[in-house]
Amino acid sequence: MFEVLLSEDEKQIRDEIRTFVRDNVDRTLLLKMDSKEKEYPYEFIRDAGKANILGLRFPKDYGGRGLGWVSEMLAIEEIGVLGIALGCAYSLPSIIGEGINKFGTEEQKKTYLAPTIKGELICGEGLTEPRGGSDFFGTNTTAIKNGDSYIINGQKRFVAGGIGADYFLIYAKTDFDAKPHKSLTAFVVERDDGVEVEEEYELMGCRGMGAARIVMSNIEIPPFRIIGNLNEGADVFNAMMVPERLTSAAGPIGMGRAAIEIAARYADKREAFGHSIRRYEGISFKVADCVTELDAARGLVYHAAKVADTGAWCRKEVSQAKVYATEAGFKAVHEAMQILGGIGYTDVYPIERLYRDARLATIWTGSNEVQRMIIQHEVFRSILSQDRSDYRDVELDTPGAHKTEEKVYRESADKYLPE
Ligand SMILES: Cc1cc2nc3c(=O)[nH]c(=O)nc-3n(C[C@H](O)[C@H](O)[C@H](O)COP(=O)(O)OP(=O)(O)OC[C@H]3O[C@@H](n4cnc5c(N)ncnc54)[C@H](O)[C@@H]3O)c2cc1C
Repeated sequence: MFEVLLSEDEKQIRDEIRTFVRDNVDRTLLLKMDSKEKEYPYEFIRDAGKANILGLRFPKDYGGRGLGWVSEMLAIEEIGVLGIALGCAYSLPSIIGEGINKFGTEEQKKTYLAPTIKGELICGEGLTEPRGGSDFFGTNTTAIKNGDSYIINGQKRFVAGGIGADYFLIYAKTDFDAKPHKSLTAFVVERDDGVEVEEEYELMGCRGMGAARIVMSNIEIPPFRIIGNLNEGADVFNAMMVPERLTSAAGPIGMGRAAIEIAARYADKREAFGHSIRRYEGISFKVADCVTELDAARGLVYHAAKVADTGAWCRKEVSQAKVYATEAGFKAVHEAMQILGGIGYTDVYPIERLYRDARLATIWTGSNEVQRMIIQHEVFRSILSQDRSDYRDVELDTPGAHKTEEKVYRESADKYLPE
């Protein structure tokens, strides 16, 4: 798939991760995590760290491999085959690492980024609050200056690694007069600073990641834990949203791919009315549509990854990839379950687990409604900032154009509509 778009190095990293997934991830770990396990999958992260496959993009100086975004997307798709929870554990070093690598000081990179890439420190991110996740800049968590330090008060919910992470990258309001986008600062808060877990969630899927509501009450944070500049948390947030949304796009492609492979093999063997069910277009066309959509999703993900590699503003491309890939991934798992019939609804096959996992992908890391908001915003901004249309024969600003359009419409209406 898409072999022609990949370099030899990219193919090699994909094959390396595929082998890691096959050799290192025991089915019992997946079942244990799915059985409402609360403990974080430390072993998986430590093994991934030892294999040097965490944070592939980051500089070699901090333990990364200095690879491009496409390599990371290939890695996430392979891990996505296992479901969303391990994909999330694998992605968090990349997401939080992006903030630290881009905006952190040398000391912060050595203290947090390098051990995270080695799998020795577990990280989590606190963006969502009980008040709501979509309106991120409306955050209620505060950090008030007290001498040189900051006193943080607030809570974050659904934090993956809420149970299990050693430190969190959290956002708090530091300027109470500024506009929302200029009011937040990013901080590293360590669990031992006094982070409390107040609620452990029972989840439909994506289990075993220690999702919890964490509370920070009068936690004192030294100034060197600020990531980036004071009140410029928006820059850190925007940078982190690239890996956050790209990883949550690539994972479901792996899930969809795995589900369709299972379904295709099943459809080949399963018989009804004297034939293999794959002979029926009702079944085989589902496979055709899902694979086409997964390939289209992969194209959008690689495209966004390539734009990200150039360092250009890629908000639209990333959101397009996130929306399309998460919906294509979910649809593929949904159709795979239909192809398997009743047995797909049982835990004999992993489809029902993938289904529960895939459902989350359109909600988290910025819901798909929020992604569509971003896409339309970028599209309107781009079109309306051009001083003319590229279609020279349609002079949209002249009244004549509307008349011409109306005339064409009238003529065709006269022709085709009944009197
Ligand atoms: C298992 C799990 C793990 C998670 N992990 C983390 C984590 O590690 N860290 C973290 O910070 N967060 C995490 N999240 C939170 C997740 O990112 C949020 O749930 C998500 O961003 C949506 O926020 P919300 O749940 O508060 O919904 P709300 O913001 O309350 O939105 C509710 C609904 O309204 C829609 N909506 C909101 N505004 C608009 C609008 N303007 N136009 C159209 N529709 C709109 C939303 O799309 C959604 O459908 C996790 C969530 C889950 C379930």
